[in-house]
Amino acid sequence: MSCIFCKIANKEIPSDCVYETENIIAFRDLNPQAPVHILIVPKIHIDSMNDINSENSAVISEIFETVNKIAEQEDIKDSGYRVISNCGEDGCQSVQHLHFHLVGGRKLSETLS
Ligand code: 5GP
Ligand code: ZN
Repeated sequence: MSCIFCKIANKEIPSDCVYETENIIAFRDLNPQAPVHILIVPKIHIDSMNDINSENSAVISEIFETVNKIAEQEDIKDSGYRVISNCGEDGCQSVQHLHFHLVGGRKLSETLS
């Protein structure tokens, strides 16, 4: 399996991990766009948002239950943050393993584009 986030989840390559359970891992982005930039990733390989379904959505629930815990841990819960998942070519998804960017620690742009 050549997927970089599968390798991170399996500890085949290192990451700056900030949170982990049996099902999910969260680690700092290699190329941060803000003071806090964390990627929250299901350990099972899911290509993108397009592939979420009733069979695998429990892990997505776990990710969203975890966002505020990581935000608290990173001290951005009160100041605010953004959660983003890029999908496909127009969404500029560059890693084909579903992931959610948790970005904060500064005032973010008002536009989403
Ligand atoms: P995307 O563009 O697919 O939404 O986001 C992929 C993100 O993964 C990018 O922000 C990029 O910096 C990050 N990234 C790519 N390879 C690695 C890696 O090996 N380790 C870490 N920590 N982040 C990575
Ligand atoms: Zn993968």
